[in-house]
Amino acid sequence: MAAIRGTVEIDIENCKGCELCVVACPQKCLKLSTGINKQGYHYAVLFEDTCTGCVNCALVCPDAVITVYREEKKTMKKVPLETVRDSAEIVAGTESPSTK
Ligand code: SF4
Ligand code: SF4
Repeated sequence: MAAIRGTVEIDIENCKGCELCVVACPQKCLKLSTGINKQGYHYAVLFEDTCTGCVNCALVCPDAVITVYREEKKTMKKVPLETVRDSAEIVAGTESPSTK
């Protein structure tokens, strides 16, 4: 079984059951429910744990009722580019011949 890297929250009462998200999901982890919501529509549900958080479903949903969550990398930190540039300047400065 694949590890969960993403998941979705669907506002089922406002889903119109258009199925666009089901078709758009590359992981095929969405489907329409057998039950109906208060508006009388079969609503979309996540039924597999293979969601990658790709957001395709949220992008195609005409009613914007899907919220996507994606697991963040916990061990990797982004290195600010300015820090790298400053270090490079310091090294370049010490290696440059003196102009005096
Ligand atoms: S975020 Fe991507 S993988 Fe997850 S349910 Fe939506 S379309 Fe499928
Ligand atoms: S695209 Fe939106 S409205 Fe259509 S079935 Fe999926 S969640 Fe419901």
